[in-house]
Amino acid sequence: MNPFQFTRVTTPKAAISAITKERGTYFLAGGTNLIDLMKREVIIPERLVDINKLPLATIEKTATGLRIGATAKNSTVADNELVKKHFPLLSQALNAGASAQLRNMATVGGNMMQRTRCPYFYDTSMPCNKRSPVQAGVDKGQANGPSGCGAIGGHNRMHAIFGASGKCIAVHPSDMCIALVALDATVNVSGPKGDRTIPFIDFHRLPGDLPQKDNTLQPGELIMWVDLPTNRFADNSHYLKVRDRASYAFALVSVGVGLDIKRNTIQDVRLAMGGVAHKPWRLTAAEEFLKGKPATEANFKQAAALAMQGAKGYGENDFKLTLAPNTIVNALKTATKTA
Ligand SMILES: Cc1cc2nc3c(=O)[nH]c(=O)nc-3n(C[C@H](O)[C@H](O)[C@H](O)COP(=O)(O)OP(=O)(O)OC[C@H]3O[C@@H](n4cnc5c(N)ncnc54)[C@H](O)[C@@H]3O)c2cc1C
Repeated sequence: MNPFQFTRVTTPKAAISAITKERGTYFLAGGTNLIDLMKREVIIPERLVDINKLPLATIEKTATGLRIGATAKNSTVADNELVKKHFPLLSQALNAGASAQLRNMATVGGNMMQRTRCPYFYDTSMPCNKRSPVQAGVDKGQANGPSGCGAIGGHNRMHAIFGASGKCIAVHPSDMCIALVALDATVNVSGPKGDRTIPFIDFHRLPGDLPQKDNTLQPGELIMWVDLPTNRFADNSHYLKVRDRASYAFALVSVGVGLDIKRNTIQDVRLAMGGVAHKPWRLTAAEEFLKGKPATEANFKQAAALAMQGAKGYGENDFKLTLAPNTIVNALKTATKTA
C-alpha cells in the first residue's frame, strides 16, 4: 500500500473543504471497501479524510418519515426499532449483507458508494474499463483506447442482465440499496456548490460510455443522510437474496418487495432487484401491472415476466434469466404470505 496522508474532521464543512483541496483525496467511513481497494492498488489515494466523527450517525423521525445519517453503521440501522417497525425491508436487506463484523463497521454512505465486486475490477493485471477507462502503457503520441472489459466474453457469472453496455457489464453489489430504491428514498448531499437532494433511483447510474462513474455524486460532495418517506408496506414486505453461501456472499439475484394489500387486492407495490444491473434495478412495469390486482401466484408470474423484458445473458450468467423471475415470484409470495 502506498503512503497517504490522513485527516480527521468533525464538521461536514471541513470534510468538503478537505476533499476539494487536492486531487486523490477520499472520504474514509468504515473503510471496509476503501481499504481493500487500497491494498490491491485499485485506488491509490494521496489523502484520506476520516468522516467518522461527523454528527451524521443519527436515525430520527421526521414529519414525512425517517432520516438516517450517512455515518450510521449498517448494524445500528438494521437493529433500530423504528426501522424494524416501519421499514422492515431495509432491516432485512442490511442483515442479508456481508457479516456481523462488517456491518458493525460499514456505514450507510459507504454502502451506497461501495464499488462493484467484478473480479476484473479488482485484478490490476486484467483489462477493466471501470478501473482504467484509458489503456495504460501505450506509446506517447498514440491515442489511448479504452482498456477493455474482461468480463464480456470472460468469467461473468455474477454479472448484469439489464442495462449493461459494450464497455461494462458489472453489477452494483449492495443489498441495502435495493431496499432504499424500493422504498423511494432520497439522498441529501452537500458539496462545494451547496446542498441538493437526489432521488435514490437517480443516485446510481448505468455504465454507458463512462463505466468509471458509478453514481451521480459530483466531485467533493458528501452524502449527509437518506430520507425514507412513510409508507404502508411494513406488513407485507420481504427481501429475498439468492447467493452461493448462506452468509458472507454477494447476491446472485435479490429482490426487495413491499406491498399495501386490502382484502387481497394490491393497492400499491414497490419492487426492486439486486445483482442484475450496474444500479439497483427498480421493476416499474411489474409494479404497474400488479396495482389493483389480486395477490395471486398467476399475477406474480405475469409481473415477473414483464420485469424480465429486455434481459440479456452473457454466457456464464445466463442462469440469472431463470433465477431472477423465480426470485421475484418467491419474494412476492413470501411478502403476501401466499407461499
Ligand atoms: C468480505 C465482504 C463481504 C461483503 N458482503 C456484502 C454483501 O453481501 N452485501 C453488501 O451490500 N455489501 C457487502 N460488503 C460490502 C460492505 O457492505 C461495504 O464494504 C460497506 O458497506 C462500505 O461501507 P464503509 O463505511 O466501510 O465504506 P468505506 O470503505 O469507508 O468507503 C467506501 C467508499 O465510500 C465513500 N464514502 C463513504 N462515506 C461517504 C459519504 N458520506 N459521502 C461520500 N462518499 C462516502 C468513500 O470515499 C469510499 O470511496 C461486503 C464487504 C466485504 C469486505
